[in-house]
Amino acid sequence: MKRLFYVKINSVIFLVRKMENLIIDIADIVGCIGSSKEINLSVRIPSFETTKGKKDFAEPVRINFIVENVKSGILVKGWVEGCLLSNCDRCLKEFKQPLKVDVEEVYYFSEALSEDREVDEDEIFKVVNNKINLESLIRQAFVLNIPIKLLCNEECKGLCPICGVNLNEKNCGCKKDRIDPRLVKLKELLKE
Ligand SMILES: [Zn+2]
Ligand SMILES: [Zn+2]
Repeated sequence: MKRLFYVKINSVIFLVRKMENLIIDIADIVGCIGSSKEINLSVRIPSFETTKGKKDFAEPVRINFIVENVKSGILVKGWVEGCLLSNCDRCLKEFKQPLKVDVEEVYYFSEALSEDREVDEDEIFKVVNNKINLESLIRQAFVLNIPIKLLCNEECKGLCPICGVNLNEKNCGCKKDRIDPRLVKLKELLKE
């Protein structure tokens, strides 16, 4: 069952596809080395597993690729862009993390692969029946490019270590200049 959605983003109408519809027919450029075409899509990506836990996108992900016949395969080049729903590492509040990732990958023709035995076939992307499946390429692009620190704002003040209040929202007035007890001892020794 094919389900298509239309959404309006920045006044441009994108065709929103479901992830399983990310199989692109490239039969029109297979016969001609150097020929290319543009792929502009908007797609809903289901929750996916990352090093920072399970993540969701706030809205459909935008895809802008040029696919080009480069003899040994189809070169896919461009970018993917989405807004990740995330919790701030400092204040724990949910926020939207914009993520734009450059992508460059070759989907090999099977003929080119049989000529090159160095290539591990399980590790690479392939053209199958004149089609390329962008799903794992896109998933991989996001998984590998999630920022190590997810912060709602570079200046996020985080939570008060004493009362737990979100310091971006209010000032609790807790005394935070408490010195490490070992340093207090040192200070006393210096005084003597
Ligand atoms: Zn924060
Ligand atoms: Zn406090």
